[in-house]
Amino acid sequence: MLASGAENTIIREIMEKVVVTGGAGFIGSHLAEELASQDYHVIILDDLSTGRQENIDRLLSHNNVEFIRGSITDLMFLRQVFQDVSYVFHLAALSRVQRSIADPLTTNDINVKGTLNVMLAAKENGVKRVIYSSSSAIYGESSVLPQSETLPPNPVSPYALTKLVGEFYCSIFNQIYNLSTISLRYFNVFGSGQDPLSPYANVIPLFIDRITQELPPIIFGDGEQSRDFVYVDDVVRANILAINKGVDGVYNIGSGISTTINELAKAILTNVQKELKPIYEKPRSGDPRHTLADISKASQLGYKPGYNLEEGLKASIPIYLSETNRNRN
Ligand code: NAD
Repeated sequence: MLASGAENTIIREIMEKVVVTGGAGFIGSHLAEELASQDYHVIILDDLSTGRQENIDRLLSHNNVEFIRGSITDLMFLRQVFQDVSYVFHLAALSRVQRSIADPLTTNDINVKGTLNVMLAAKENGVKRVIYSSSSAIYGESSVLPQSETLPPNPVSPYALTKLVGEFYCSIFNQIYNLSTISLRYFNVFGSGQDPLSPYANVIPLFIDRITQELPPIIFGDGEQSRDFVYVDDVVRANILAINKGVDGVYNIGSGISTTINELAKAILTNVQKELKPIYEKPRSGDPRHTLADISKASQLGYKPGYNLEEGLKASIPIYLSETNRNRN
């Protein structure tokens, strides 16, 4: 039997409340789903600027999930939403390097001012911990691989700089106001729910989309640039571990495996059993040549990746395909 409105309210009141900012986005919607399944009262806060209602539609039938539409740039709004909240997972951001190059001002407003607002509202409401989504982009061009948290940051795009400022705000709020904060530096996250039709789409959904339409993948540069691709379920698990494990600070969240873009194209072609030759175009600015996570520190959180690239592709390609077909129709 379905719970009535009054029963739903009582159920929510006895559960621990958490907020997922950016919860209608790619990673946020996966995280919100897992938190809901672990019996948290989940508040998805999103302005739907790049997130999608369809990412969360299936979650809203759970009696412990609420969606509140609004912006992290509105401090008064955050102060209200964060009342009685135990944990804030802060994912809302303009999250694309190329978009930040095209529009650094908006990127700064959302990623820097928005993050400061989140920290202030969390401090004022006595939130137990803020779990901040940072990025490996902050390493920029580094000659040292794998990249460990002790490497000096070297951001090479407005996006990377804003993510680094967010980490510094986490650290400063921790030191000055005693707000517990943890920054998770994700490497290249992939999985279902990434939109290949967005103008700033990520490489994996773009390749899958083109290849399954019999179009060759487009590679910027010689394809020998490499990335650490981490499956979204691993990133979700890292966030949940970060609720009560590990000391405040910064942790890399990756797979610890290096894959060149040429190897990635080949892995997708093999998975969908197609033979197409990639097209090579000139390299893009703002993209570092190599990234690779040293994930030894994250073991303090109990983090260990559960998927390699092939396993993640196998799990997600069928879902990508059904989502893309639905969005096209
Ligand atoms: P996404 O664009 O799918 O999700 C971001 C969400 O934030 C969207 O739902 C968007 O609508 C929301 N949002 C944007 N501005 C907002 C605002 N002003 N107020 C409220 N909501 C707002 O991106 P994603 O890939 O899911 O990334 C989530 C987080 O992880 C980001 O902070 C990003 O920087 C970080 N990250 C992602 C990756 C990756 O590979 N996807 C890698 C490193 C770090």
